[in-house]
Amino acid sequence: MKKRTAMVIASKTFGLITLIQRFSVQDGPGIRSTIFLKGCSLTCWWCQNPETWFQYSELIAKDEKCNQCGNCVNACPVDAVRIDKSVGRYIDRTNCNNCLKCVSVCPTGALEKIGRYMTIEDVMTEVERDELFYNRSKGGVTISGGEPLIQWKFVRKLLKELKYRGLHTALDTSGHGKWSILEKLLEYSDLILYDIKHMNSAIHRQGTGVGNELILKNIRKIPMDKKIWLRVPLIPGYNISHENITNIAYLAKEIRAEKVSILPFHRLGESKYKGLGRYYSASILDGPDASQISYVKSIFMGHGIKVSIGS
Ligand code: SF4
Ligand code: SF4
Repeated sequence: MKKRTAMVIASKTFGLITLIQRFSVQDGPGIRSTIFLKGCSLTCWWCQNPETWFQYSELIAKDEKCNQCGNCVNACPVDAVRIDKSVGRYIDRTNCNNCLKCVSVCPTGALEKIGRYMTIEDVMTEVERDELFYNRSKGGVTISGGEPLIQWKFVRKLLKELKYRGLHTALDTSGHGKWSILEKLLEYSDLILYDIKHMNSAIHRQGTGVGNELILKNIRKIPMDKKIWLRVPLIPGYNISHENITNIAYLAKEIRAEKVSILPFHRLGESKYKGLGRYYSASILDGPDASQISYVKSIFMGHGIKVSIGS
């Protein structure tokens, strides 16, 4: 197919992006670029991406890079930073207003801004660098979060542009949003990565802050010709039970999911909580062991459902 490069939509539409991760093999088929948006409607206590929660730019600190030069102390207009002999450079998050003035004066990258506004054109320029890898691996671009439904106007235009340029698109969503919005994004999504955490609404609310009624209602409305991969985070002590996994398997069959992706919990996000000055609720939780993973896998396979681990 002839390569299209012209923008079909207005380029000055901005989205707030956490990160564009290149060469991802965990968010859909092939090699992909995953665009993590900022802003989420759930509050999962095990979340591995706390930097995506809020729809504003914010400060993240990397203590290991700090040389205690003191520039940030002088730059901060609200005296939220101090250098203490016993703890080193310390940020009082109750005072910090995320003005980010300290970031530009830090010489070592120990203070970083998370969240940047990008136009559709900015994003396309970044993702098209890897077009060769997408083509060779049958990969493409995945829009993730946070929750993509929150910045849906930007996401719809981006998906439309990606499709116009002939790229495979995947939408990674919790499904917690208005159907009228999700429906608008489906039009330009080749694959839907749909997160299912728990089939019991009360337990879902305990774990994520919201019930699952809307999520289940929305997934059942997705047209049958749309490809869906269910994504199930495996959280020990929360959602690994025969009843819950069996009910997810029933749902997978009902909506004709192409496969279920099991995503075992891990603690790799812990340092991000520290950098953001937030409490990490899952600090004493271990990931599922091999027997728990194979137990869950066997339930899905027993229902004739294709399963993958970690992607
Ligand atoms: S981001 Fe926070 S710590 Fe940094 S200068 Fe602004 S108020 Fe101070
Ligand atoms: S400006 Fe950067 S390197 Fe200097 S004290 Fe602050 S955080 Fe540390």
